[in-house]
Amino acid sequence: MILVGLTGGIASGKSTVSSILKNDFNCRVIDADVIAREVVEPGKRAYNLIVEEFGAAVITDSGAINREKLGEIIFKDEARRKKLNAIVHPAIGKAIFWKVLLSFFSGHRFIILDIPLLFESKTWTYITSRNVVVYCSKETQLKRLMKRNNLSQGDAQSRIDSQMSLEEKRCQADIVIGNDGTLDDTYKQVEKLHKNLDKSKKYLFARATLIIVCSCLFAFGYKLLL
Ligand code: ADP
Repeated sequence: MILVGLTGGIASGKSTVSSILKNDFNCRVIDADVIAREVVEPGKRAYNLIVEEFGAAVITDSGAINREKLGEIIFKDEARRKKLNAIVHPAIGKAIFWKVLLSFFSGHRFIILDIPLLFESKTWTYITSRNVVVYCSKETQLKRLMKRNNLSQGDAQSRIDSQMSLEEKRCQADIVIGNDGTLDDTYKQVEKLHKNLDKSKKYLFARATLIIVCSCLFAFGYKLLL
């Protein structure tokens, strides 16, 4: 099994590509945004730690984490942002790890890790074999963001400017999906990507390594029991 990082900039089309891979090509996609929401659901360890740290003010009437309120607090306070990250990031990391392991044992040749901050976090690129960036021009990105989020040009531009630029991400990519054209153009590129990943034999190496590691652990444990 190989891990493929998928990223982009805001409104560059990452979710569009991710859903084509998932829905049209039946790929296993692990979505970091979905996991980030799951790990702070009421009752989860990260939820309890957030309530302990930030108090009841960040809880909605239904008991969920009030993400907007939390966002306001950490936006103004660097130290508290670090505290929140120290709670949430390990929880996301663990959840992704277990999902990857489960996918590995269910026989997937490759798994797509859909991670908006793939290059910024620098954690996941250690384990991804290839990194895919969904790229479009600045003009297209701005136009699509304004339309999708109903934002003024200024607001949309400042959201784009607060992120690592798409140019920078493109330089770090192994594979670039150009998303300036029609959805059909993008679909064809995703189809080609899928074909290449599907015929890659790299997953055999990862599978063999795991079997060897498991066998060694088993043999070692058996020896200890004797
Ligand atoms: P991201 O996940 O990177 O933020 P999205 O996939 O949500 O971006 O795409 C941003 C917006 O642009 C969405 O409204 C989407 O429907 C639209 N979009 C994406 N790709 C195309 C395309 N090739 N042609 C036209 N609209 C597109």
